[in-house]
This record gives sequence, structure tokens and C-alpha cells, in this order.
Amino acid sequence: MPLKVLVADKMEQQGLDELAKIADEVQFDATLKGDTLKSRLADFDPDVLIVRSTKVPADIQAAGAGLKLIVRAGSGYDTIDTAAAAARGIRVCNCPGMNAVAVAELVMGLIISLDRKIADNVIDLRAGRWRKKLYSKAGRGLKGRTLGVIGAGRIGAAVARRALAFEMSVVWYDVVPEADLGGLADTPNVARAELDDLLPQADFITLHVPGGEGTHHLIDARRLALMKPEAVLINTSRAGVVDEAALIEAIEAGKLRGAGLDVYADEPPADAESIDSPVCGVAGIYGTHHIGASTEQAQLAVAAEAVRIVAHFKQTGEALHCVNMPAAG
Ligand code: NAD
Repeated sequence: MPLKVLVADKMEQQGLDELAKIADEVQFDATLKGDTLKSRLADFDPDVLIVRSTKVPADIQAAGAGLKLIVRAGSGYDTIDTAAAAARGIRVCNCPGMNAVAVAELVMGLIISLDRKIADNVIDLRAGRWRKKLYSKAGRGLKGRTLGVIGAGRIGAAVARRALAFEMSVVWYDVVPEADLGGLADTPNVARAELDDLLPQADFITLHVPGGEGTHHLIDARRLALMKPEAVLINTSRAGVVDEAALIEAIEAGKLRGAGLDVYADEPPADAESIDSPVCGVAGIYGTHHIGASTEQAQLAVAAEAVRIVAHFKQTGEALHCVNMPAAG
């Protein structure tokens, strides 16, 4: 079948080149969003829409009369109204697992940085300040500490594997009874626990659950109060999973040592040049710019997977990794 593809977000050149071989027509414009995306969908009328962080709510979907497939070039898909898509017969696919290692590497980076206050070291050094005495007392060390992993999917398992290499213990929680932390469940120094039992045990807690209603404020003021005062919370999942105001309050009151965040309640769009968020002024919070998935190797892997989904769809009509309807039919 003839196939038109609209790529409305950043994509590695290699991926675009491969798409051009598969599809009859490919349009690429990473600036499209909201009304501009709507009019492009109406004018070009693609069969496939590929997005990364661009939001695709029901009204935008409705602008693409011939739209059959939306590919989210990443793992989370809470930026796409999947129910509205299903109602229109549009299949939504994601690229699961392609960026798990990239996110896990960032988590380990945040854990080590927060433990040794590496970012503060750098800020002071850049300003010509030498604070050896202060920073010599900062680190508690990772060996023998307990990492709490909440959400034992692809990223949670990748983080656990790395934490074990640092000789940490892992205690983990997942809602799904069959979850096995990527096969690590029976490994020494790994234990499963209920969420409220995990929190008081862990020195570092890292969140790897999906966003959305089911996990909204999973970490709220009550659960923050269950954590050790010397604990550090890492959130690279979705901002809504943590009650940000309660987190700031807990850190400022000295009830939590600190937090590493990659996602924010007031997160600006990718092309913005500033951020206005209450977390910016909190000394105990180390924040990165929503870069969890953004390594060269992860982006190449995601682009290759998006291309594979489009190629398979063209050949068979089946949507790989379909998250909102049966894959075909
Ligand atoms: P995954 O689907 O492989 O794993 C998610 C796990 O969470 C599953 O095991 C699921 O059973 C579990 N889960 C769901 N609801 C839960 C709950 N209420 N309590 C406990 N466990 C629950 O997903 P993943 O690829 O590991 O991604 C995890 C998160 O990371 C997602 O929110 C995704 O959006 C986010 N993410 C962020 C970045 C970034 O750039 N920071 C990049 C990729 C993914």
C-alpha cells in the first residue's frame, strides 16, 4: 500500500533516510505542534505520524483524516490520547526499551552526583572557590547502601543491574505480581517489598513507573515522610508521579537529603530557553533538562525501532508494540 509519513519531531538523520526508502512520501518538520501540526495533518494527510515529545490529543488526531498509525519514538505515551485514537481506529505504538540504558545511566549519574555533591563542587570551582573542607564531608558512599526501585520494568531493571555492580542492595516494588525485575528477582541482595515497606529501608529511591492517573502523586507527603531523612529520591519517570510541592517542603525542612529530577511539573517545551519552576531554587535538588533518553546511542536505537514499526506496518498491516488496540485487524 502507498504510505505517507509525517515526522513531527526530532529524528536522527539515519532514521529519516531509512524512512525515505520505505515510504512513498516523507515530510519532516520538528517544529510542528498544536495548530501547525493540525494544518499539516489536514494538508498532507499522512498514514503515519511519528512524534517524540509532541502532544497528540484528540483534536489533533481528528485533523488527519487518513491517519492509521501514530508512532511514539520513545517508551512513555502519555502525550498521546490513546483512547481517542482507538475510537478513530488509529493504532498507537511505542518503542519500548530502546532508551532504558540511557535513562539508567542518568539515574546512576544523579545518584553519584548527589552523594558527592559533584554539581555544587563544579559551580564553586567555576567561580574560583575552593571548598575542600566542605565537600570532603559530603559523600556517604554507595557500597552496601540500599536502592529502592519503584516500577520494575525495563528502566527499573537496568538501574538495578547497575546498582548491583556498585555493590548496593536492591529492594523493589511493582504492581504487577508476575514482575521479576528483568530476571534479577532471585539474585543475592535483591528483595521485593510493598511500597510502604520499601520507603523506610532505602538510602536512594528511584521511580520508574508510567505517568498518568494510576501513578499520579504516588509519592505524596505521606510517603515522603516514610523515607529516611538521609534518603535521596530520583525521578526520571514523569513529573506527576511525585507531589513536587511536598518534595520541596520535605527537602527544605531537612526531612529528605535531596532529590535528582529529570522531569518537572512546569516543564517548558523543548525549544524554550528558560524554566520557571519552584525546584530551580532548591539547593538539595539536582535537575537535568529532561535528557534521560537523550544519548546518541539511544536516539539511534529509537529511530531504528520507529523505522522497523513503519516498515512492518507497510508490509503486513500489523502495528508492532501497539498499546491501544489489537495490533491488526
Ligand atoms: P516499563 O513499561 O518497562 O515499566 C514500567 C513498570 O512500572 C512496569 O513493570 C509496571 O508494571 C510498573 N508499574 C505500573 N504502575 C505501577 C504502580 N502504580 N506502582 C508500581 N509499579 C507500577 O517502562 P520503562 O520503559 O521502564 O519506563 C518507565 C518510566 O520512565 C515511564 O514513565 C517513562 O515515561 C519514563 N521515561 C523517561 C525518560 C526520560 O527521558 N526521563 C525516558 C524514557 C522513559
